[in-house]
Amino acid sequence: MHGSEGGGGCGCTACGHAHAHHGEEEEQGRHQVAVIAGAAVLLTAGLVVDWATPYGEAALLLFALAALAAGYDLLKTALHALLRLRFTMEVLIGIAAAGAFLIGHPAEGATVLVLFAAAELLEAHASERARRSVADLFSLAPVSARVQRDGRWTEVDVHAVGVGEHVQVRPGDQVPLDGVVVAGASSVDQAALTGESVPAAKGIGDEVFAGTQNLEGSLEVEVTRPDTESTLARVAAYVEEAQQRRSRTEKFIEKFARVYTPAVIAGALAVTAFLPLVFGVPFADSVYRALSLLVIACPCALALSTPVSMVSGITAAARQGVLIKGSDYLEAVGRARVVVFDKTGTLTTGRLQVTAVKGSGGAGEMEVLQIAASLEAGSGHPIAAAVMAKAQEDGIEAGPVEGFAAVPGSGVRGTLGGRACALGNGRLFPDVDEMWTEEREHLEAAGQTVVFVGEDGRVIGLIGLMDTVREDAPATVAGLRARGIRTVMLTGDNEKVAAAVAARLGIDEHRAGLLPAEKVQAVEDLSRRFGEVVMVGDGINDAPALARAGVGIAMGAIGSDIAIETADIVLMHDRVAGIETLIDLSTKTMKVVRQNVAVSIIVKTGIAVLAVPGLVTLWMAVAIGDMGLSFAVIANALRIPWGREKVSLPQAKIVKQQTDPSSIHHENML
Ligand code: ADP
Ligand code: MG
Repeated sequence: MHGSEGGGGCGCTACGHAHAHHGEEEEQGRHQVAVIAGAAVLLTAGLVVDWATPYGEAALLLFALAALAAGYDLLKTALHALLRLRFTMEVLIGIAAAGAFLIGHPAEGATVLVLFAAAELLEAHASERARRSVADLFSLAPVSARVQRDGRWTEVDVHAVGVGEHVQVRPGDQVPLDGVVVAGASSVDQAALTGESVPAAKGIGDEVFAGTQNLEGSLEVEVTRPDTESTLARVAAYVEEAQQRRSRTEKFIEKFARVYTPAVIAGALAVTAFLPLVFGVPFADSVYRALSLLVIACPCALALSTPVSMVSGITAAARQGVLIKGSDYLEAVGRARVVVFDKTGTLTTGRLQVTAVKGSGGAGEMEVLQIAASLEAGSGHPIAAAVMAKAQEDGIEAGPVEGFAAVPGSGVRGTLGGRACALGNGRLFPDVDEMWTEEREHLEAAGQTVVFVGEDGRVIGLIGLMDTVREDAPATVAGLRARGIRTVMLTGDNEKVAAAVAARLGIDEHRAGLLPAEKVQAVEDLSRRFGEVVMVGDGINDAPALARAGVGIAMGAIGSDIAIETADIVLMHDRVAGIETLIDLSTKTMKVVRQNVAVSIIVKTGIAVLAVPGLVTLWMAVAIGDMGLSFAVIANALRIPWGREKVSLPQAKIVKQQTDPSSIHHENML
């Protein structure tokens, strides 16, 4: 029934899709404000003339001019739609206004059009602001960079900087492009991207990101990505896409609007016919009441109620370094009864340390470590990093490895100087000597992760490693449980370590010794038992399980393309506490959605019911049933970011305010 293609049954720009450039939009906005102000002046003049003088024709002329000025676009659109027999919002309002003029209520007809035009403009402005604050956040990246060319540093447009070129980032500068530090040391405030207020230390080999703020040192950075593919640009693109995508609730509301509008129109027709016939109401009065019903039949506020809240929620999250790829995910997070965590790198820091190296049978500790380091050189696993670090500390050189293979969830294999070597857990070593088993149990009892080192299928040594639980993990798990959410931990690590970590954190259920495929099965099993589950991981070695979960959340994703691309929700920072914030944001957003939908339906229905016995004037129908309601709905949605920022970013961005004047005005957006 509803014709406006864009906003799902609603003609408001607020739910529209394509957006013109900011400059053009502002220009257009100013023009519309002038037109509406002019129309309002004409309308007021008409009311004054009507009240103070006997010149009825003069007043009528003023009302007609006001109506044409405010309603020109609307009436034109309405006529087009009507000729194609489509009952769009413009048609409803157009008929209501024209009808008012015809039955001798010109003042009201003009008021309908003026108020409606004003409401449209303000709605468009408010929702655009909710959207745009993200764009503003992401336009923080500088437009030029100091690039080394012909031995000199020259200021060049960022678009013109190629991958592999070197750029200089001076103290207080913003990082212009993604890259790797090749000289210098500094700390960088990454809050624009991660929402994390503690600056990150950067030295040679560390990644830096476009749009972040360099603090005290000077850095030379080798560019790794073109301007358009920077982490910032990709996150911004995802957020914008998410803002456009409709959630389940939104689709439901659209369907509802499709029934609601024709129903009210039918009601209007019935009122026109039956009131005079059955109750003897004068025909002109019954038409007037029917016209009020037409105004109320506009589903605008209703159609607006959900998307404006979702956009607000998604934007609020993005400003804190949480990328939500669609409103469905935002909705689902608040519904989930179970949160599943990966252990290593999620509940623990994933920065393991070697705490024990044992060798025997001719192989000394040095040799065990040498073999281990050589094999791990090809692996990206947290254990590999720990083993390599230990070898380097002890001055051990890694040797060349042939036929390297990583066995996910088990370990690594390769040939070293003609000997088939392996490093990993019990899966790689089916029969282990009594002596090694005892040694292993001893270390595991102390909460260590144990991997064996073997040669030609025989264990020749072992390495014990320790991981540390994240500082914010215990409080997060406790917070989830307080919200009645069940917590589950999955890990490929051994049962003893898993049990120790689970007990320490108060995790409800844990499953250890899982292969990546078994983690997927565990997620499926939990989904069967508890409905959609939320899974939190690092998005690197647990991507399949994240993909299988109702909502897959990757943590600490800054710098990891796979994590950013595969997860449904991405925490750019690596605070596991972000999960709690996210759940609260979801709960709050959904509460606002429910309030908005309920208020829209109640107010609209109320006015419709009162319109039948003639208790509602046309201007009331517009002012309350359309404009007032749309405002209430938008204002309610805009509360979402306010509440959030107060809760979780009390001390953020102080440094940025001092160094970057442009960020100050972003602070008070929304
Ligand atoms: P998690 O579930 O804790 O993230 P993984 O599935 O990545 O763990 O690995 C599970 C187990 O497999 C590790 O605890 C370790 O025993 C073994 N493993 C996997 N990769 C390696 C590797 N590169 N080096 C040594 N051990 C490994
Ligand atoms: Mg892992």
